[in-house]
Amino acid sequence: MKRYKQHQLKLYNSLSGKKEVFEPLTEGYVGMYVCGPTVYNKVHLGNLRTFLSFDTISRYLRHLEYNVRYVRNITDVGHLEQDADSGEDRISKEARLQSVEPMQIVQRYTVDFHNMLNRLNCLPPDIEPSATGHIIEQIETVKNIMDKGLAYEVNGSVYFDVFKYNETNHYGILSGRNLEDLIHNSRSLDSQQDKKNPQDFALWKKAEPEHIMRWPSPWGVGFPGWHLECTSMSTKYLGPQFDIHGGGMDLKFPHHECEIAQSEACGHKDPVKYWLHANMLTLNGQKMAKSTGNNILPEEVFSGSNPVLSKAYTPGVVRFFMLQAHYRSILDFSDDALSASEKGFQKLMSAISILSQLPASPRTTGFDVDDWLNRGYQAMDDDFNTPILIAELFGAVKFIHQVKEGTATVSEDDKVRLEKQLGYFVQDVLGLELVVAENGNNHLEKVVQILIDMRAQARDNKDFALSDKIRDQLLDAGIQLKDGKDSTGFTSI
Ligand code: AMP
Ligand code: ZN
Repeated sequence: MKRYKQHQLKLYNSLSGKKEVFEPLTEGYVGMYVCGPTVYNKVHLGNLRTFLSFDTISRYLRHLEYNVRYVRNITDVGHLEQDADSGEDRISKEARLQSVEPMQIVQRYTVDFHNMLNRLNCLPPDIEPSATGHIIEQIETVKNIMDKGLAYEVNGSVYFDVFKYNETNHYGILSGRNLEDLIHNSRSLDSQQDKKNPQDFALWKKAEPEHIMRWPSPWGVGFPGWHLECTSMSTKYLGPQFDIHGGGMDLKFPHHECEIAQSEACGHKDPVKYWLHANMLTLNGQKMAKSTGNNILPEEVFSGSNPVLSKAYTPGVVRFFMLQAHYRSILDFSDDALSASEKGFQKLMSAISILSQLPASPRTTGFDVDDWLNRGYQAMDDDFNTPILIAELFGAVKFIHQVKEGTATVSEDDKVRLEKQLGYFVQDVLGLELVVAENGNNHLEKVVQILIDMRAQARDNKDFALSDKIRDQLLDAGIQLKDGKDSTGFTSI
């Protein structure tokens, strides 16, 4: 029997504003679409948090033995500055600034995105379609919406008629807005002459001569609007109605609202059953964002080369730090928080590594493996509550130490079950690699720590020739030292 049959998974649906029991459209199968990055710049930790949240969600769905088709796109055209309908394309602008082809920008930052997700142990999606690879499908979607009378062409651009759509549908169903409010709050930026109303949004834009990313269409040479790609590609790979659509909270409006409008206009009734939104990673209380410069890059954390950090942190620690918050809560990034996570992570990993060496007794005392296992699953079944699952993992850590110290006992059978279930929770579901137990990093860390201590001693003795030699030779061996206020950390490069 498939595992999901024994679970009642609940997830918070942004569309209803409630936790709902998860019932996929087709039993046993899950179609999930997540908005991917706009690849015009290096991915920052905020972006990564959202992708890591959905990685964990897809991991859990797979662990429950659902047959998952996870689609996550690459936005490589159409996303203009300030998320607006006019202005320069983000990719083209970066290509202009760096004097390279737009597709070089796309390639460079797609590779960076994949590398960083790999380091954080995020699994690749099943399909990763790009907007430029689906221009034909997008043109078909525009034609379809025009055929339904819900879009109009002006001067080579096509706009979605929000007012007309709103006569029979609710524009704002996801974000809880209504057209009246939008009319009052609309930005002057969007009030372009071509549009019937400023709330209308572009499906297709005419390319001005300087706009280099351009394709022929029935309306002349142009490029697709930002929201169009997700509707076209999710429909192509998951059908007119699918189970889960995810993305960061900041995409709820206008991006996801417009996706719903486009799909409904195409005749796809209730296109998405469950809308999931991940909350933001902040730095100094402000959203991490590319545009404001208030962000940290993953490689800065892995090398410790950012002034807000006292040392380097491994990708495993960064992943653990993010999982210690629920995906719908805001998480603030700080050196103190990472340092606390590092301690917790090491404690968890070292407890797992000693589990197999624990002495077995005829019976288990001081711990109920079944209860613990159920509580762990209950946490994940309750809208993927990773912080509660981690708290349960620490319950097991405590028990392992008690057995080691002789204040509790474990039977051989329970030891094997505990080991197996920790593997499921820690590796399969949370995506944390067992660094201490399996790949011998522990030894490396100890050896490097011995050298760091010898270097500190040499410095105290004012033997700078020796201290520099230790630092340089470690660097040659691929280990970079990073001096903090009170201690020295290191990272492998
Ligand atoms: P973008 O590349 O700007 O299209 O964003 C890619 C993804 O990162 C989207 O799902 C955003 O919602 C998400 N995102 C952007 N900033 C943050 C942040 N500070 N915290 C969490 N997710 C973010
Ligand atoms: Zn999208």
